Amino acid sequence: MNKALCWIRRDLRSYDHHALSVATQSYDKVDVVFVFDETILSKLVDKKDARLSFIIESLQCLEKKGLSIHLVYGKPQELIPEIAKKLKVQCVLCNRDYEPYAKKRDEQVAKNLKNLNIDFEQFKDHVMMEKHEVLTQSRGIYKVFTPYKNQWLKVFNEQGQTTSTFNVNLKKISSFNNELSTLTYDWHKALGFTPSPPALKGGEGEALKKIALFKNKITNYKNHRDIPSLDGTSSLSAYIRHGNISIREMVRLALTENSEGSQVWLSEIIWRDFYQMILETHPYVAKSSFKKEYDQIKWQGSSDHFKAWCEGQTGVPIIDASMRCLNATGLMHNRLRMIVASFLCKILLVDWRLGEEYFAQKLLDFDLAANSGGWQWSSSSGCDAQPYFRIFNPYTQSEKFDADGKFIKVWCPELSTLSKKEIHRPPQITPIVHYETQRIKALSMYSAIKS
Ligand code: FAD
Repeated sequence: MNKALCWIRRDLRSYDHHALSVATQSYDKVDVVFVFDETILSKLVDKKDARLSFIIESLQCLEKKGLSIHLVYGKPQELIPEIAKKLKVQCVLCNRDYEPYAKKRDEQVAKNLKNLNIDFEQFKDHVMMEKHEVLTQSRGIYKVFTPYKNQWLKVFNEQGQTTSTFNVNLKKISSFNNELSTLTYDWHKALGFTPSPPALKGGEGEALKKIALFKNKITNYKNHRDIPSLDGTSSLSAYIRHGNISIREMVRLALTENSEGSQVWLSEIIWRDFYQMILETHPYVAKSSFKKEYDQIKWQGSSDHFKAWCEGQTGVPIIDASMRCLNATGLMHNRLRMIVASFLCKILLVDWRLGEEYFAQKLLDFDLAANSGGWQWSSSSGCDAQPYFRIFNPYTQSEKFDADGKFIKVWCPELSTLSKKEIHRPPQITPIVHYETQRIKALSMYSAIKS
């Protein structure tokens, strides 16, 4: 009998799953495994990390559907070959992960499997286009988004807009009595964590509900997506990050109508592919600036100011409301991410890496490629970034995107009685820095590296 092992990682769903689809179509029997990766978990400082709970909820959702999953804790480099050998499979299949750590880990897994004469196959699933599919005329890598997007769309159209579904034959998956099932075993405790219900419940069922809700809103996406109080975006990022939904399902939604809203939404999905490609082809962007000269900046900001930013205590309402929202929920609207990131680097003059790390600890949708891309865009150090002299004024951004102060009032209740005229820059509050003075300092700090 032909047997395979499917290793699920950031693709926690049972449908439209490339590796599971190939495994269940090509082999007689398929076992499924998930590893609680020791290396990743040991880096989580907060032992009440909601992302672990989100993952456990996602696994519970699969197990409730009747999928048996081998659940183990440790180093995949050792565990995957051990399990594959024990189950006597011919091949281990999984979907490709483009992050530097994952790539190294998978290379080691492949090597250890090869020593056992077991095949290792990886598939495209996490992105729509891989790095070699969208190239410049001279077969190079794009470093600017708009031409990348145009070429992406050209290739997508030439491929006949293929968003084919990878069907999974669940009947081929081995079923067994699992003592370590997430439905009965206390995995939080076993891993040394305390359950912390995430602001969005994990699992493919929840993801499908979210996309169905967004279907009614996509037409208005272009007009509503920048207003945090409107709930005008899909809120799918944590689901796509953990693979509770497939990227093809998202693109299929974008194609169901030809509105400006759906086109702009598709653009955001292309940004996601773009940042994945940049991280894969320039892995140093995980820790340093894409434009290397930006690593010379002499950041003048203080640790006290960084702390105030983290805690939502800067005295600038839109910044404080956004950071308090992040701290309480692990979520933050895209417009607000841009405002707080620009404020940290260009007004508090703090190194973008500190902000990036803080987001990495807090965001439910934390994704190395998108986070590093977003921070480098905001701090002007990225490949296709905002020019350094473009500095968001948090007060005018607040007036424009939270005109009535609705969002601010949710997270800064102490300001709830202020009028919409006063709420953006309350006269009775002295912020930790003076915006106009800091702006001038930022320009000279940045221009120093330019000369
Ligand atoms: P929608 O507006 O509905 O967009 C649909 C999907 O497209 C999102 O779910 C996401 O997968 C993708 N997407 C949208 N915008 C971007 C973008 N600018 N870059 C890459 N992908 C995008 N996104 C993350 O997923 N993880 C992060 O860690 C992350 N960190 C960020 C840090 C900063 C400083 C900034 C400015 C942006 C960051 N983003 C990150 C991008 C963006 O803010 C979120 O993807 C978005 O807010 C998620 O909300 P949504 O699912 O409602 O998005």
